[in-house]
Amino acid sequence: MRSMPTIRPNILFIMSDDHAAHAMSCYGSRINATPNIDRIAQGGMRFDHCFCTNSICAPSRAVILTGLHSHLNGVKTLGDKLDGTQQTVSKLLQQGGYQTAIIGKWHLGHGGVNDPTGFDYWNVLPGQGDYHNPQMIEMGVRKPHTGYVTDILTDYSLHWLQKRDPSRPFFLMLHHNAPHRPWEPSEKYADLYEDVDIPEPETFNDDYQNRAQAAAAARMRIDRDMDMKDLKVEPPDQLAGQQLKSWKYQRYIKDYLRCVASIDDSVGRLLDYLDEAGLAEDTIVMYTSDQGFFLGDHGWYDKRFMYEESLRMPFVVRYPREIQAGSVCGNMALNLDFPETFLDYAGVPIPDNMQGNSLRPVLRGEHPQGWRTSMYYRYWMHLAHHNVYSHYGVRTDKYKLIYYYAEALDAKGAIDDPKPPEWELFDLGQDPYELCNVYSDPAYAETIRELMEELHRLQAESLDEGVREI
Ligand code: CA
Repeated sequence: MRSMPTIRPNILFIMSDDHAAHAMSCYGSRINATPNIDRIAQGGMRFDHCFCTNSICAPSRAVILTGLHSHLNGVKTLGDKLDGTQQTVSKLLQQGGYQTAIIGKWHLGHGGVNDPTGFDYWNVLPGQGDYHNPQMIEMGVRKPHTGYVTDILTDYSLHWLQKRDPSRPFFLMLHHNAPHRPWEPSEKYADLYEDVDIPEPETFNDDYQNRAQAAAAARMRIDRDMDMKDLKVEPPDQLAGQQLKSWKYQRYIKDYLRCVASIDDSVGRLLDYLDEAGLAEDTIVMYTSDQGFFLGDHGWYDKRFMYEESLRMPFVVRYPREIQAGSVCGNMALNLDFPETFLDYAGVPIPDNMQGNSLRPVLRGEHPQGWRTSMYYRYWMHLAHHNVYSHYGVRTDKYKLIYYYAEALDAKGAIDDPKPPEWELFDLGQDPYELCNVYSDPAYAETIRELMEELHRLQAESLDEGVREI
């Protein structure tokens, strides 16, 4: 083990939007290559079990800024805005002497207490942000831009890095809005994959049998629910049934992967800059996405569910001074851990009320005693988007127990139309694709008892009340 540096490293945090791990070659993607993101993994550590606590955009971002679960930071839904008067990691780093910036997607409200705080410089997209010729809000002033958003955000980031004060460490959050729906690629990659067929995933023709009703009720099916904004051209008249479904998948996944190609270029430009500026050794580079995404898995696009493809975040970290190149982490990590990790590296005290753990020991290759072996998830927006039922659950290394409580409660934007509550249990070792709910199988009775106890323990620990369960 190398001795601990006394320097305070720079932190470059790059987060994209809806980029699933299974569309990155360092995670074994069968459908694309991401050579520049792979540089981070090859030079550092890849996390294979990093999960988000609430699989939608704004809530995941609020968790990363506050180190608190959604029900405590006030952003449970896409309708909630972040109250910036509360403690945030950007403010703590700024007070700790870091120069701080956020560039790109914010999605936590605009104006007054909802503007970014704790950032010396901020230049963010209004709402979701446009792919082409986006408007941006630079320190409160809205300005038009010409060009492709991923390139523009990268240009701003490089410019800020070049103009920074080299005598102080930096914390830069570059938040790409790609590859979020409606997946509009740049001119550069408009024809990428034109002459190839992208393989369909194993669960492409899921029939939603042997599961809770929530899976069949969801409206995120590639064959039925995509609109013209997603597809961009009319399907050929002669196609129907399975052929039409496959055609739609190709339309969708190619545009998605074209957007990812631009993200990968962006990562490459930033890594090149760090090399050229002699900053690579002293800069922690992280790449992640606010949550995962269904890439035709279960016949779906979108996210929200506690199922693996949506729950899992890609997370790769490079820091040559402390992280073994080419290492892989099997420990369970959460987006909730990110802010404490930043603070730990920065040497800024971690507030007691933050609910995650610094990943720094894990990144050093240690296996800390008592490290979490389970995580708590909750999605609040009952029926609001894609008809997904509200649910919560626990995931361990071996199992996943989900409770669809299926009512709105007080969640903003949720629809007050309760559905019959249901449980789902997946034996992840036997059933990694989560196709068979074994909740009613008597062989799992003891497992269910233990998982329920763990679920309630996690709820108590995270200060979430939960609901009365059937
Ligand atoms: Ca997202």
